[in-house]
Amino acid sequence: DEKPVLVTGGAGYIGSHTCKALAAAGYTPITYDSLCRGNAWAVRYGPLEVGDLMDGERLRDVIHKHAPIGVIHFAAFSYVGESTGDPLLYYRNNVAGTATLLRAMQVEGIKRFVFSSTCATYGTPERTPIDEDCPQRPINPYGHSKLMVEQIMRDCARAGHLDAIALRYFNAAGADAAAEIGEAHNPETHLIPLALGAAKGTCPPLTVFGDDHDTPDGTCIRDYIHVSDLSDAHVAALARTGKGPGFDALNLGTGTGVSVRDVIDMTREITGREVPHSYGPRRKGDPSALVADPSRAFATLDWKPSHSDLSNILQTAWAWMERERRMPPTTRLAQAAKGAR
Ligand code: UDP
Repeated sequence: DEKPVLVTGGAGYIGSHTCKALAAAGYTPITYDSLCRGNAWAVRYGPLEVGDLMDGERLRDVIHKHAPIGVIHFAAFSYVGESTGDPLLYYRNNVAGTATLLRAMQVEGIKRFVFSSTCATYGTPERTPIDEDCPQRPINPYGHSKLMVEQIMRDCARAGHLDAIALRYFNAAGADAAAEIGEAHNPETHLIPLALGAAKGTCPPLTVFGDDHDTPDGTCIRDYIHVSDLSDAHVAALARTGKGPGFDALNLGTGTGVSVRDVIDMTREITGREVPHSYGPRRKGDPSALVADPSRAFATLDWKPSHSDLSNILQTAWAWMERERRMPPTTRLAQAAKGAR
């Protein structure tokens, strides 16, 4: 018996890994993606339906055709810097696009919904580790767009139309253990691929954003979670839905903080190469430390990260990068490192 699941943004980084996890768990992932930022080569575990999130008619046709049991919604823009420069791009795609999707689901009678939210909804957090009751005060349009969708979900759930879980990711990193898929952003702005690229020589030297943060070594602390652990959590979250309308929000992190310095040191160890780097000023809007309290997700989903130690994150990301097949050309990485954020 088929268990189709619609995965918007299934051609993206976390979406494609979740498609693999869904297939492994006996579901059929149906990817809905415009391919404006996703990669067709990353759609390997089920069919691809090319379409835009703002195209409600196309969404309804695809839902009608595949009759999914639920929707996992990744499709969104996710560059903080871009959102500050062009807020409407983010409010249109992330907020209006999601409203279009939810309307199509409602018309077709689909209620089960798992949403990609983010720790960026907490802004500069009031306390750390961050639990779900921490006040959500985003400090950029990207974070606001995700928080607005959470509000829409709450309201739709209250109206009886939605059975939903929002997953607030901390720092997604790493790649599929078999290196079939991996991170391939264009531009790439994330620390781990930039550090590995610097070690490999395909990226310019890394600039560390600040060494005067209020942390033990002065560099920023983040909670890095392996993309395969995130994927498993999505499958578990989908399985949690199906008991009737409701809304819940869960942090997905490990609960362990890792500094930029730690990432550089471990990158040297894993790659056996130096990581050329220098220290620059702090990046605007960068909180010194973001670490999850993931206990609610552990309890609700019967899930725990098992791939997320830093050495495994770096090993899998490095193995993916070494395959080189599908990595974006060096020039794009170089552009990214110059600070398109
Ligand atoms: N970072 C850095 N240099 C870079 C990119 C990132 O020092 O070229 C730091 C950044 O300040 C943050 C951490 O690495 O503390 C992770 O940044 P990333 O952009 O990967 O994720 P974010 O936490 O901003 O979502």
